[in-house]
Amino acid sequence: MSANNVHDMSADAYDSYIESMRKEQYPMLRETLYLDHAGTTPYSKRLMDRFHAEMMGSLFGNPHSVSPSSQRSTQMIEDTRLQLLSFCGADPDDFDVVFTANSTAAIKLVMEAFREQDAGFWYGYHVDSHTSLVGVRGAATMHRCFESDSEVESWIGGQDAAYHEAHHLFAYPAQSNMTGRRLPLDWCSRLRQEDSRRRTYTLLDAAAYASTTPLNLSDTDTAPDFTVLSLYKIFGFPDLGALIVRKECASLFRKRSYFGGGTVDMVVCLKEQWHAPKSGALHEQLEDGTLPIHSIIALNAAIKTQLELFGTLERVSRHTAYLAARMRQGLAELKHGNGKRIASIYGSPTLEHDDGNTLGPIIAFNLRDSRSNWVSNTEVEKLASVKGIHLRTGGLCNPGGIAHALGLSPWEMRENFSAGHRCGSENDIMNGKPTGVIRVSLGATSTISDVDRFLDFVKQFFVEEYPRPSPSVPAACQTQRRFHIESLTVYPIKSCAGWQIPYGNSWEVREEGLAWDREWCIVHQGTGKALSQKQHPRMALMRPHLDFAAGLLHITAPSAVESISVPLSKDPRCFEKRDFAQRDASVCGEIVQSQTYTSSTIAEYLTKALGIPCTLARLPATSTQSASVRHSKAHLPHSGGTGTDAAPRILLSNESPILTISRSSLNRLNEQIKAKGGKAAHPAVFRANILLAESPLSPPGQEQPWAEDQWRGMRIDRTDGAVMEFLGGCRRCQMVCIDQRSGEKNQEPFVTLAKTRRFDGRVLFGVHTALATGSEGGSLRIAAGDFVEIFT
Ligand SMILES: *Cc1c(COP(=O)(O)O)cnc(C)c1O
Repeated sequence: MSANNVHDMSADAYDSYIESMRKEQYPMLRETLYLDHAGTTPYSKRLMDRFHAEMMGSLFGNPHSVSPSSQRSTQMIEDTRLQLLSFCGADPDDFDVVFTANSTAAIKLVMEAFREQDAGFWYGYHVDSHTSLVGVRGAATMHRCFESDSEVESWIGGQDAAYHEAHHLFAYPAQSNMTGRRLPLDWCSRLRQEDSRRRTYTLLDAAAYASTTPLNLSDTDTAPDFTVLSLYKIFGFPDLGALIVRKECASLFRKRSYFGGGTVDMVVCLKEQWHAPKSGALHEQLEDGTLPIHSIIALNAAIKTQLELFGTLERVSRHTAYLAARMRQGLAELKHGNGKRIASIYGSPTLEHDDGNTLGPIIAFNLRDSRSNWVSNTEVEKLASVKGIHLRTGGLCNPGGIAHALGLSPWEMRENFSAGHRCGSENDIMNGKPTGVIRVSLGATSTISDVDRFLDFVKQFFVEEYPRPSPSVPAACQTQRRFHIESLTVYPIKSCAGWQIPYGNSWEVREEGLAWDREWCIVHQGTGKALSQKQHPRMALMRPHLDFAAGLLHITAPSAVESISVPLSKDPRCFEKRDFAQRDASVCGEIVQSQTYTSSTIAEYLTKALGIPCTLARLPATSTQSASVRHSKAHLPHSGGTGTDAAPRILLSNESPILTISRSSLNRLNEQIKAKGGKAAHPAVFRANILLAESPLSPPGQEQPWAEDQWRGMRIDRTDGAVMEFLGGCRRCQMVCIDQRSGEKNQEPFVTLAKTRRFDGRVLFGVHTALATGSEGGSLRIAAGDFVEIFT
């Protein structure tokens, strides 16, 4: 089937056409459920083939020369300019195209022009604006945020009476990149009519809108003065933006003080300072430097290919509107067993009356559990990622939209900021309110099966037939039957393989954890960021070995014959001063002073093994520099002190000094996984230090899975045995799905954990552990085989 006759196809026929076409044209989508089209949309094979053929077939030179190859580029660029104008229905007599890097760059060009005006400028923007529009206010002499459509309406109504000294610029998105809500396009024409002196200009941000809907600038009287586009959101490729500007506005740019290669006819530099800006077409005055020639060639191919594969953008628009309605309705109808709705969808009060024109295929929402508590977006994102679903969560670069939707007042946003909330941070529910939303967005390649698969995902993981239990708080202190330590493991290098402590060897426990645990890490050479297995699963195969006889830590890369070694000792006599460089490393977002190894052998070995430029760093275990002291995130609420003073110190572990897991719980989890035909999880995936098992002396069949939810502490049964406290459950992410022997990613055990062990939006497995407050570390020891007594 081809797209020739798609215009008349029924919704279902078009959907099955897309379904089969995308198998061939979008091989990278494979099993992926891609729901981030508003971020960027995928590019087709045909587009890439066509671009490739074009590039291989001709020589394209720099258009600023006169050679044949240069002329060819110029010709291609001029053709593409025209093609893009016609794609938007814009008459080349009235409009010009300025190529930019993206929408933001296009917005900045407009902002610069207004900033250069003698009296500065007044700037008005709608609350639903993308951050890139909001930012223009920084250059304005006065600005106003319109908090609703009706505020805009009445302001437009009063235009004629208003006297404008300075130029006015009014900006808004044609479609919110957060809720998908479409704003009235006629504001542009009404402003043109009402403002007879023509001092108020309109800037339409069509970046989200135009990706699934044709932009129609054919009526010159109603079109905005400036329209910005992100072309990669429409075609997937190339990475290019555009400013479509009404030629009438050219005079605004005359005051431009900057000029660069490409935008000037003559420059005098020596005794006199003089230049002649280009006076030709507007784009010649605004496109500084060499144009992105190859991207423009790709755009040419992209426009052609789009029409071949999808028919018109109008057809895409109808298709995506249909899918979006199905998605919105599906989410709105999902309910928990007790009848409570699960999804709160934002910005679509007109759901029932939607005619396909007021809502684009972007849906923003949050989920609630059956007790109406918010589900953490990070949790949704983790599960989605395990299930191959690509979506976006957080603030979405839409500050006004988010504040509106979540009812966050400015003081709350500032308070959250002070309390450490940043775009993308894990802790996304603060003071009982979400700090961001979940966004799913559909595009030309989306299909009905995508929508249904996403709805199934929400149903499967977040719909509760019965309310979930919380781990109950134990009533009184009791000692419990005996357990024993089945094995002890340390992870000398953060995120690399564990090293099992030989059975029976007693091991030192310190405030910051088991001796030699997470003392080293592998850092990116450029950023100094500690690498994590989450991004680099191959790290699981990097094997450290503590060789006390030789006094060395050996590191062996996967399938390498040779290892590298570094001294275990910190005694300065073992090193040359230049063996280390003091550098800031960043571990889980915290900056720590670390000693980075300067050896090129180490750097080359690790870089080769992991395929990223990296090297080894060490955190001094007992550092006196306060900058290097990290504290456990998990600590007992009842331990008295406040803030980090009460929390134990940690080295490079993520959250707490020691992690303990229970064999009985692991067995229970694996039964559940196997019952559904899944593959049992190896204890190594949890990267625990202590694996506790019920004592071999306890009667069989009396295992107590999840008993650790109630545990408060344990005493190791030996003379120098440590007393340890449990600091609460360990929150899990998809990293538990990395097979520690192959480095491959699975869906289990995270999927089953998420279904059976989710409490208040946290998926828990294992318990954070630390030396009991007040114990003297250093002389206390534990060993695999030791019996332990549990307190509850
Ligand atoms: C994506 C987007 C932007 C930013 O576009 P860039 O190409 O990243 O500069 C601005 N506004 C809206 C509505 C968007 O969707």
